[in-house]
Amino acid sequence: MIRKILSITLLVFSSYVPAFSQSILADSLAMYCPETSIWYPHSTPYYLYKGATFSQSQVVWSTSFHTATPIPIGSVGPKKYTKQLKGIISNTQIAEVMKQAVENKVNVILVIGDGMGPVHMTLPVYMRKANGDQQITMFEKIMKEGDCGYVLTNPAGGLVTGSAAAGTAIATGTKTRMDMVGVDTIGKPLVSVMDIAVRRGMKTALVTDAAITDATPAAFYGHSIDRNNETEIARQLAEDNRIDIIFGGGAENFIPHDSRFKDMEGFEDSHFSQSMSARKDDKNLLDIFMKKQYKMVHNTSQMEQLKVGSPVVGFFSVGGLPAPIDRNLQNKEIPTVAQMSKKALELVSNNHKNGFFTMIECARIDWEAHANDVGAVYRAVVEMDEVLKDAYVLYQQRPKKTLLIFCADHETGGLGIAYRKVDSDEKESFKCVNGEMWETITKALSFENFRKMAAQDRSLSQIFGMSDSPRALKENVEKHTGYTISDYQAEKIFEASHKGEKMPKYAIPQ
Ligand SMILES: [Zn+2]
Repeated sequence: MIRKILSITLLVFSSYVPAFSQSILADSLAMYCPETSIWYPHSTPYYLYKGATFSQSQVVWSTSFHTATPIPIGSVGPKKYTKQLKGIISNTQIAEVMKQAVENKVNVILVIGDGMGPVHMTLPVYMRKANGDQQITMFEKIMKEGDCGYVLTNPAGGLVTGSAAAGTAIATGTKTRMDMVGVDTIGKPLVSVMDIAVRRGMKTALVTDAAITDATPAAFYGHSIDRNNETEIARQLAEDNRIDIIFGGGAENFIPHDSRFKDMEGFEDSHFSQSMSARKDDKNLLDIFMKKQYKMVHNTSQMEQLKVGSPVVGFFSVGGLPAPIDRNLQNKEIPTVAQMSKKALELVSNNHKNGFFTMIECARIDWEAHANDVGAVYRAVVEMDEVLKDAYVLYQQRPKKTLLIFCADHETGGLGIAYRKVDSDEKESFKCVNGEMWETITKALSFENFRKMAAQDRSLSQIFGMSDSPRALKENVEKHTGYTISDYQAEKIFEASHKGEKMPKYAIPQ
């Protein structure tokens, strides 16, 4: 039946577009886009690439948006808290449990993998098995030692959420509408676990490799019916809050209209000194931080030198920070989320009297999943595992007084790894002990082929962007990923990537 519908669809389509030939079909370059219900003979380069490499990767993405797939949660710490975080729970439950812990001055380390669904999280786990590595990932360790479950992420009145509504649920315990941060469904400001931690005299830290004004961190301190109002959210962070350690990007939201960082005290020699403000008013929020005795840092070495003491704002980029997979291309003075979180935890964890609360967001998992770039997602999840390693060391120092939770806010991309059917000349066979022949045409993706995913050392947006001809693109795919593409596929991907069709703006900060 499905096959029949498919062939009718294709027939109709090919009569509309004469150029839509059978050879395109054979190369899997025509892609069905569920968002628009249209078959694209020439789609985004990402769409074309995933089709072109499917026979090698067996990776499928069902969308470039979020899905309602339940997300994983794992926690270690006092049982009275972790036992409430097992089974199938609501995302609001995470806030409820953290609020209880913070009221009791129990340290909380919350690590959010933005967009990290169960399959994203399992990539390093399968990779470990594929490599025969005995050392388990932190995801496995925390889930095994503590409690674990699935989280339903739906926003108020719906099923599929976004970072704003999901972040608000995790930070405050109240479900809200899409794109709202820190307010309820009628726009009333909510109290977050961060607010309670500050009130209880805890040391607090917010760390992200997105902008610090992006939806996930904003849900912990900001209040806005529109997550995109980042300049107002920035004002709220500087004027209305007192968070001790703030590390991330988004510096453009903090300086006066029309000004550049080269004219800002302390940022004259930053790598983004030439960048401009995103504000529309004359507020200098850096001044406000300074008046509140905050130290200001803008690169890795300054950050590494920080000692326990005054509060700190670390702005390492005007927007988001680079993808972990593009690390070797980036300015070394931009810290990784693992470096930032290690330092932040060091700076807050000496508060033995009142304890500490830290939220760390690994934002790039979501961004790479939006681009359907599985190799880049893998690297971003591996980096989250690094973050969890440091957090776990700290947890072990005071296990009765520390609650460590990892989770996601939602799943992005509908990531899956699928089997595929092959022609009978490719079928596998094996003679069983009783002499019977076992055979199958169902390819279950071997570990050997799965490992090729980890060979990717550059994001697809970089690979496509750096290729100035179809030939260069084919060579770059071969050089920077574990896969190969045909001349024809390279030509089509090149065409799509140079038509400016929906290419995400994932620029590497210089
Ligand atoms: Zn998100």
